[in-house]
Amino acid sequence: MIGLASQKQTRTSKQKERLGAANYVCSACSCTDVYIDHSRGEVICSACGLVLSDRSIDMGPEWRAFTADEQNSRQRVGGPADWSKFDQGLTTIIGRQNVDASGRKLTSTRRAQIHRLRKWQIRTKVHSSDKRNLAVAMTELHRISSQLSIPYSIRETSAVIYRKALRKRLTRGRTILGMIAASLYLACRVHQVPRPLEEVCDQIHITRKELSLCVRLILRYLNLKIPHSNPVEFVHRFGTELDLPGEAKKKAIDILNLAREERLTIGKDPKGMAAAAIYVASILTGSRRTQLEIARTARVTEVTVRNRYKEMVDKLGISTT
Ligand SMILES: [Zn+2]
Repeated sequence: MIGLASQKQTRTSKQKERLGAANYVCSACSCTDVYIDHSRGEVICSACGLVLSDRSIDMGPEWRAFTADEQNSRQRVGGPADWSKFDQGLTTIIGRQNVDASGRKLTSTRRAQIHRLRKWQIRTKVHSSDKRNLAVAMTELHRISSQLSIPYSIRETSAVIYRKALRKRLTRGRTILGMIAASLYLACRVHQVPRPLEEVCDQIHITRKELSLCVRLILRYLNLKIPHSNPVEFVHRFGTELDLPGEAKKKAIDILNLAREERLTIGKDPKGMAAAAIYVASILTGSRRTQLEIARTARVTEVTVRNRYKEMVDKLGISTT
């Protein structure tokens, strides 16, 4: 997204970095003095605040080192480590060409030796049942997360959750698909990008019962810090699906904030709260959607929408007539 950088962002001088003037010229004010904000991956004009690029690539290593020793022990070649690959992407591949570093053909004894090495390297790679499980699971994770368009950071978190579950033997007797779906669902909650349980189920064809079983299993045995989901997070998703104007979404968020101040949201399903707020907002802004439409989008029952709506209107003193 290219747009004005928010005034609220406070950048420390460490995060700011001046770049050679030749690389970027601001398209709005022709200023050549720009910042690279590495924490956000953005190039920003220092004169007017226009974001010139938000796709900067981090060429640095994925590890941190604080001493020279650490620096030396962590340096390596290859791509960045990736938790969502079963071997973290740190694999050794023994080439098939049977030539040495300078391109000469290997002798027959050497060739036999390399052949055995290659064979055992492949065998040890996915040898134990845990490793095999992980290899299958990570492939599934890649497939599902691209189906659900899950961003990279969340995919990594779910890979870590799955690995922890595997280490604690929670995957015994559960399907790989179910556990992967549960890890993904929980990772979305951790990152506060809510995906309703039902949506995950629909996409990857497992029953809601199985998914919630896996989710509860992981929650019970892994110490995950999951922030409470806030109904506001659902407003944009549902609002967009219902094709509501921005004004109505804004109104719904205002109503939800008010409801939270009045302690109406406590113990209520955030989806139901969001649905009711959207219903009220759609009426107030003259872009009315029916309770049924909203209930379908939010995947709650019509009764839930109606009940939450009544509470809201009563307690907040909103008039919808
Ligand atoms: Zn500028």
